Amino acid sequence: MDLGLTGRTVVVTGASSGVGLATAAMLLAEGAHVAACARDADRLAAAFDGLPRAAGARVLLRACDVLDADAVADFVGVAAAELGGIDGLVNNAGRSLMRRVLDTTEQEWADELRLKVFGALHPVRAALPWLRKSPAPAVVTVNAILARQPEARLAATSAARAALLNLTTTLAGELAADGVRVNSVCLGLVDTGQWRRRHAESGSPLDFATWSAELAADRGIALGRLGVAEEVAFPIVALLSPRSSYVTGASLDVGGGVARYV
Ligand code: NDP
Repeated sequence: MDLGLTGRTVVVTGASSGVGLATAAMLLAEGAHVAACARDADRLAAAFDGLPRAAGARVLLRACDVLDADAVADFVGVAAAELGGIDGLVNNAGRSLMRRVLDTTEQEWADELRLKVFGALHPVRAALPWLRKSPAPAVVTVNAILARQPEARLAATSAARAALLNLTTTLAGELAADGVRVNSVCLGLVDTGQWRRRHAESGSPLDFATWSAELAADRGIALGRLGVAEEVAFPIVALLSPRSSYVTGASLDVGGGVARYV
């Protein structure tokens, strides 16, 4: 099936690793142009080095912190100028903070909220003038099941994720008049840089496969394993596709059955 993304331009934040990189790779394979950012320019360049792409698909890479509104505006403006406008945006850059509620400092609460809210709002604001001109504009925000199912060990991240989900719903209503669809993909546990780092920091004698299988059992993931980035990339790409033209304000769980709510 043709997803209708050939020749479209998509901005992907946090694209040097994990979900962002897998999404960018899938878009390039579909023939879309990709403008990708992350803070570490060298890691970003290395990640895209030799990445396969369909004929005609172009890439623009920029070091950019999504918390810096001016830098985001500059990145998005250059992307639009060089890649011929902007049709899609994937708000993916981020991380989580393993901290229980009373152990989280006021600064950490503020930092988590700032990252989740402005990490999405800065790129949306910057891309909006071009999204409004696109024939089929779409924004996908990468969020977490934590937004609806908080975890005590991720207290501030859970609350900030809930704020982001709420904000994304508001944006969907606000931007519908411009024809811009806005949706969320809510992740469970995905085997990416985040979990590889946690495994290394844990000092566990178990290899990653055994450690992550125990993690999946502990978290009650129905499918019994962590997801992989490509399994998340496809739903993101599907929501970006003009074929999802009647889907807006939705949130899709991609968690292997970890969600306990109905
Ligand atoms: P990774 O750690 O593998 O990748 C994160 C990417 O974001 C990197 O490219 C990183 O590059 C970039 N990044 C981080 N902070 C910023 C910033 N301020 N500005 C620009 N780029 C930034 O993460 P995942 O692929 O696992 O996660 C992707 C998203 O999904 C994140 O928002 C994460 O919180 C969310 N998520 C992930 C889950 C999981 O289990 N993996 C579960 C739930 C949600 P650099 O450091 O160079 O900036």
